[in-house]
Amino acid sequence: MNCAADATGSWRRKALALSLGGLALLAAGCASGTTPPPRVAPTPRPTPAPPDRVVRVQVTENGRHRIVVRDLEDYVVGSILSETALAGLPAVAATHVARLQAVLARTYAVANLGRHAREGFDLCSETHCQVYRPPDAYPERFRSMARAAAAETRGVILAYEGRPIQALFHSDCGGHTSDAGIVWGGVTPPYLLAVPDPVEATHRPWQFDLSAEQLREALNGDARTRVGNRVDRIDVVERDVAGRATRVVIDGERAPMVRGEELRAVLTAAFGARTVKSTRFDVRRDGNRFSFVGTGFGHGVGLCQVGAIARARRGESFVAILGHYYAGARLEHLGRLRLTSRGPGARAGSATP
Ligand SMILES: [Zn+2]
Ligand SMILES: [Zn+2]
Repeated sequence: MNCAADATGSWRRKALALSLGGLALLAAGCASGTTPPPRVAPTPRPTPAPPDRVVRVQVTENGRHRIVVRDLEDYVVGSILSETALAGLPAVAATHVARLQAVLARTYAVANLGRHAREGFDLCSETHCQVYRPPDAYPERFRSMARAAAAETRGVILAYEGRPIQALFHSDCGGHTSDAGIVWGGVTPPYLLAVPDPVEATHRPWQFDLSAEQLREALNGDARTRVGNRVDRIDVVERDVAGRATRVVIDGERAPMVRGEELRAVLTAAFGARTVKSTRFDVRRDGNRFSFVGTGFGHGVGLCQVGAIARARRGESFVAILGHYYAGARLEHLGRLRLTSRGPGARAGSATP
């Protein structure tokens, strides 16, 4: 999944380091069911209701679009199930993976309400926004796990300077995440800076081979990479700290220079998302064959899903994991934030891989 194309432009928020703290705000929740537990405490909870509790989601059923209105927390349950594979994880690790995805899904929804306002809903249910399928599409075992994770983190989001962050994530960083601004341009908010991700044996290598003719045709299909009648070589002329190709010169009849992410966008549009899986690549030429050889899957900004899962497996809590990938963001309760009303949401959202 990928929202890279949306993520150009400058980041709105300025830099100021805050630490991940205040975990006491995780409201203890009922682990089963989506209805709130009956109020038995003699003292009323002071947390006010969040201003936006519903999400209008466009879903597709039998090839037809339909808009459904979901309680935010129900939306979170469906999104946890759709964006993560809980199967095969030890119980404790699965709990933490589900909780961190709950926080990410909620943060994304709140930060991007109204992204599709012109079309009459808030979020689509595909990778453009965040994948959402109704929970009843999944086995009960995982449904109850997702419901528990949503309840246990109820109302909690990642915030920076009192606003929900753009909680970008991707499948596999390849070993190091990248600054948002280096990948797409603009200013990087401090919670989306590059971090190393040394998690043993999780980051996957890949290779994509194609002929010079296929490459030339694909490049000529986009104005940014138009190379003309021949393509001679592709040179990575600049890399970021993570090793991602940030500037690439395509040498042929013409010699366009593009961002690595632009080249990846052009090639994946032509050949599919599972071809040039990241910009953490080298390009080799052998006669008429070009090979892209790399590691990772996705844009590499924000949380790395395979890294997060590996961390949960080795016993890190979802709080520690979020703190690693979004350093400087805080867990906050929605009820304590002053949120702006629905507007044309922000650019970049869920971003797997
Ligand atoms: Zn969308
Ligand atoms: Zn990683």
